Amino acid sequence: MGKVLIIGAGGVGTVVVHKVAQNAAVFTDIVLASRTLAKCEVIAQDVKKRSGVSIKTVQVDADSVKDLVQLFRTEKPELVINVALPYQDLTIMDACLECGVNYLDTANYEPKDEAKFEYSWQWAYQEKFKKAGLTAILGCGFDPGVTSIYTAYAAKHYFDEIHYLDIVDCNAGDHGKAFATNFNPEINIREVSQRGKYYENGKWIETEPHEIHQPLNYPNIGPKESYVIYHEELESLVKNFSTLKRARFWMTFGQEYLTHLRVIQNIGMARIDEVDYNGVKIVPIQFLKAVLPNPGDLGENYTGETSIGCRIRGVKDGKELTYYVYNNCKHQDAYNETGAQGVSYTTGVPAMIGAMLFMQGVWKKPGVFNVEEFNPDPFMEMLNKHGLPWHEVFNADLEL
Ligand code: NDP
Repeated sequence: MGKVLIIGAGGVGTVVVHKVAQNAAVFTDIVLASRTLAKCEVIAQDVKKRSGVSIKTVQVDADSVKDLVQLFRTEKPELVINVALPYQDLTIMDACLECGVNYLDTANYEPKDEAKFEYSWQWAYQEKFKKAGLTAILGCGFDPGVTSIYTAYAAKHYFDEIHYLDIVDCNAGDHGKAFATNFNPEINIREVSQRGKYYENGKWIETEPHEIHQPLNYPNIGPKESYVIYHEELESLVKNFSTLKRARFWMTFGQEYLTHLRVIQNIGMARIDEVDYNGVKIVPIQFLKAVLPNPGDLGENYTGETSIGCRIRGVKDGKELTYYVYNNCKHQDAYNETGAQGVSYTTGVPAMIGAMLFMQGVWKKPGVFNVEEFNPDPFMEMLNKHGLPWHEVFNADLEL
């Protein structure tokens, strides 16, 4: 059906390439480009072994619009799946506009020199993509991504109005390391160490980092201490579902993880500015990434599972209704299928599904859109077919 170019050969990129190759009738040509060619080649070899599909690999610096334009002009993909880092979102979108290529990502833009993420930078491309007749699909991982689709599905099928949304993200896995992050350490540490924020009655309420917490029960897992943190899908969901009175995001952290995080911050290793070390300029958090376990390598000994879902309260026909929709994903299942752990898997599968819906012309409209602005039904159906089945509970106690 069409040619796809994947940028980024990390944990998520690994899963996207495997899943795209499993659907070679839709993705007839597959190119994987990243900063380090050797990493692309390792993935391509594994895909060849598992699926028998050949992947072309290319080196690219996605910080450079010029390099990207050259790559896009040579390869002429229909769609770019950006699973590099949030820093590269805008350069890749610029190159897409210059070459007439459609765009999909899993994380919103973040400037390198400021730990701050918001959609404004990418929403500003709305008119440009619309005028060019190109589609940009934003935030098509699990959270953002599936959580946004769950919300859209609930609003469409079960509620007249949704009022309270709690996105609950639990990783009850054990990778056997004293400290490791489940995706890019730099992005992860920047995200979880910032101040908390949630939406209530038309306003954003800020909290100290990890100030609000309580145990929540996760299916097949049990109670886990869960913390309110700010997460990017809240920004687009409160805009696109204006009946929401409150929207929060909860994530589980173990005590060990939080202690390590506090030490990392206290000793200055989470700093994102340059420091001078023996005449060499280094950014501490980037140095830290180099010595921490590579998230992409955690899979082999990872046990346990993730459980991510949406707990929603609202009204239908004048009556209160609660709804909980979730997926549980076992790290070992993800590893056996793709060689990557569950967090990469739960991000990469939705990216492939969004890409497939685009290729099939189902999710295709000129402009820049968050995933909840598309029809959620075909996406929900494909989650069940491609490895992330979901479950629903009606009128349960949401604990929140
Ligand atoms: P990794 O760090 O494992 O992989 C990132 C990849 O991008 C690496 O291969 C890296 O190259 C490459 N890259 C970085 N900079 C450049 C550049 N300038 N040019 C070309 N390639 C570059 O991260 P993950 O795979 O864990 O995460 C990928 C993305 O997915 C991130 O944006 C993350 O925020 C997002 N994510 C989204 C989630 C969701 O649910 N929505 C959940 C988890 C992650 P190199 O190998 O040379 O370092």
